[in-house]
Amino acid sequence: MIEEHDEQDTICDSVNSLIEGCKLPVKMPGTEDWPQAEIISIKDLRGLKCYYVHYVDFNKRLDEWVTEDCLDTRKVQYPNRDVTAPGTGAATPKKQTQSRPPSPIIINSEPVNGSAVLQAALQKKIASRKRKANFLENEDSQDAPLPPLLPGEARPRPTGSLVAHHHDDVVTRMKNVELIELGRHRIRPWYFSPYPQEMVNLPCIYICEFCLKYRKSRKCLERHLMKCNLRHPPGNEIYRKGSISFFEIDGRKNKSYAQNLCLLAKLFLDHKTLYYDTDPFLFYVMTEYDSRGFHIVGYFSKEKESTEDYNVACILTLPPYQRKGYGKLLIEFSYELSKFEGKSGSPEKPLSDLGLLSYRSYWAHTILDILLTVKPLVENEKPQITINEISELTSIKKEDVISTLQNLSLINYYKGQYIVTLNRETIEQHTIAMDKRQIKIDPKCLHWTPKDWSIRAKWNPGSDHVRLSNVQNCT
Ligand SMILES: [Zn+2]
Repeated sequence: MIEEHDEQDTICDSVNSLIEGCKLPVKMPGTEDWPQAEIISIKDLRGLKCYYVHYVDFNKRLDEWVTEDCLDTRKVQYPNRDVTAPGTGAATPKKQTQSRPPSPIIINSEPVNGSAVLQAALQKKIASRKRKANFLENEDSQDAPLPPLLPGEARPRPTGSLVAHHHDDVVTRMKNVELIELGRHRIRPWYFSPYPQEMVNLPCIYICEFCLKYRKSRKCLERHLMKCNLRHPPGNEIYRKGSISFFEIDGRKNKSYAQNLCLLAKLFLDHKTLYYDTDPFLFYVMTEYDSRGFHIVGYFSKEKESTEDYNVACILTLPPYQRKGYGKLLIEFSYELSKFEGKSGSPEKPLSDLGLLSYRSYWAHTILDILLTVKPLVENEKPQITINEISELTSIKKEDVISTLQNLSLINYYKGQYIVTLNRETIEQHTIAMDKRQIKIDPKCLHWTPKDWSIRAKWNPGSDHVRLSNVQNCT
């Protein structure tokens, strides 16, 4: 009896001594697994301690609040042995924080006048409702073969150093929105997004699916919908086939829409930065039409002028539309635009886990399609094609063509030259995959002329003055 009592004391102490930065095995809800996890934050909810944890080898979208009973306190790794003397132990926590994936999000503090958005980045409180973790779709580890569903893309611009223990960093590492309602969809967000403080403490954010403005309650949204007469994204519809349309939105002309789109997208993209300056970007929003309007399915953004041949900055398929081929459609569309421009292009790096899978799969199918249709120049000889020719035909950048061929193990060095060998298995797999893809972009349905933004910028240096008249009046 005494022993048992002692042991309980030890466990209690152990839980009480847990601090942010501790690593220990945590039971993953819905599974019997106890993967290593890091405690990001601790809160007291009416006497019940809750721990926000990040599973070390898993994507951040699985991060969640758990209770004490999910923690295995027998194997705790403390971030800093000498907690009481932070001055002397400064080097120790630094080492610890570097060992985890470098994932802090640093919000670019470029001001947007009067915007409440930035205050959110400094918020000190996190939505305090206990999350019931039920991400059946997202329980794959990064190592497990994830289905290629969401193209998500991180922006690689310099963001300064990673200050892992800064309070705001802890805040931006945690999901802060419980739920959103967008049209007929209710969606659980995956990552932090800097919605205003008064929005994130609510059980749900109600978003107008056409102008993307957000409201606190369904009543407020209904009031908004009475006045909001948009039934499609702003900008020009540049593509329509069947029920699928694409709208091109200028981030300068439709600043409010572009910013709201970024806020919404951030809930599902694990960026390091969120750009409030939408002026240098074009946004291509894909919609699906029904009698109620054009409903947003996903989008990608693109720099008006890219010095590095990027043809996509951020890309996202909203969760309700994932696993249905829409992600590939977005990617395919981005390459169609590049073909119209007569350029080859590539998405900005690094790509997210799901984004990379989607791109790899798109590249593989597109390149195999070309390889299977090449005819030999002389009869009975092997067909020949160069990497440059593949790149020109597909607008896929040369480097991506090469890496794809390498990933498929199709490229061999033989008698002093590189040759591509297609085996029966690869061809069969490809045919099956192509049969599965039902929707494709039809270039004949694209009505678009590329603009030369470098010329426009020179001609219209004071272009910012025009923008106010273009902000939608949609309160
Ligand atoms: Zn609206």
